[in-house]
Amino acid sequence: MNEVNFVQASNLKEKPDVSKIGFGTHFTDHMFEMTYTEDKGWHNPQIIPFSDITISPANATIHYGQAIFEGMKAFRQGDKVVIFRPLDHLNRLNNSARILDIPQVDVELVHTALKKLIEIEKAWVPAQRGQSLYIRPFIYADDGFLGVSVGKSYKLYIILSPVAAYYSHGFSPVKIMVEDTYVRATQGGLGEAKTPANYAASLHAGLVAHKKGYDQTLWLDGVERKYIEEVGSMNILFKINGEIVTPELDGSILSGITRRTVLQVAKEWGYPVSERRISIDEVKDAYKNGTLEEVFGSGTAAVISPVGVLGYKGEDMVINDGKIGPFAQKMFDYVTGVQCGAEKDIHNFTEVVAEV
Ligand SMILES: *Cc1c(COP(=O)(O)O)cnc(C)c1O
Repeated sequence: MNEVNFVQASNLKEKPDVSKIGFGTHFTDHMFEMTYTEDKGWHNPQIIPFSDITISPANATIHYGQAIFEGMKAFRQGDKVVIFRPLDHLNRLNNSARILDIPQVDVELVHTALKKLIEIEKAWVPAQRGQSLYIRPFIYADDGFLGVSVGKSYKLYIILSPVAAYYSHGFSPVKIMVEDTYVRATQGGLGEAKTPANYAASLHAGLVAHKKGYDQTLWLDGVERKYIEEVGSMNILFKINGEIVTPELDGSILSGITRRTVLQVAKEWGYPVSERRISIDEVKDAYKNGTLEEVFGSGTAAVISPVGVLGYKGEDMVINDGKIGPFAQKMFDYVTGVQCGAEKDIHNFTEVVAEV
């Protein structure tokens, strides 16, 4: 029953010039689909031609938002295709599922299906350093019913999208606005889940920040607007007086796989690392007394995103003269090196999934 079926597309698409496309604009020829019903559980895992999907206008997810997703990447390493930490991402999908009361998936089965999908679509994995095949698994409640309740039927899909190097115009620091009006998530809420609701909660504040000339928002805690949380789609790390400091996982922020990678590698490199509450006042004080050495975000999309400017209550803190700090640079080079095969992968972060 859990054999992954394959229905081949009759026409294959022309592959785009990846250096000329934006993020998430092009999709491969096939996708993975699996269905959940109360009587059968998760069943009918299959790889089918990429196409639009049909839902009821009363679809529970559209009305009430019971959905989760993941984001990971496949890279070319010479004639091999690897995925960066796939099992960590699939286990996190199940953690998000737990929070949203979505039935757990069989990680082993989805892992097998993902590898099969990549094997079929391996010609879509771009070969240049920095380019990748973005992997987007997602699950949504599929009930066509307007009552508010936990879903009884679900769909899981995995779609694939070739993406250009994040820093195609060079590795450049971003301007971040510390948000002291709006909040994204609170403890006891959905902050620890990778779920559309957290993005919906961030869109308006993002627009306001853009209008003020900032690229993204840095969220503070929802109760006191005092403690640092994370950036919209990245975790945030500080280098203060030689120490790498990042907010602890308190239930209201996502446990980023890149965050995990950076903390582990930093420790191995001999840096003191601390996961704890950190207030915006502490960051301001460190800035004033000259010990705020670096600020950077971590996430699958950019790997490391150095912060050049941190704006708070109308005042800009310019970090490291607005330039990339040496730690952020070294970590970016190391992790992207492991991803493209230039660095030896001593941690087995990457898994070979196909040969080209
Ligand atoms: C996906 C995501 C991140 C980054 O997680 P990675 O596993 O490093 O890609 C951080 N914050 C939020 C809210 C996210 O959705």
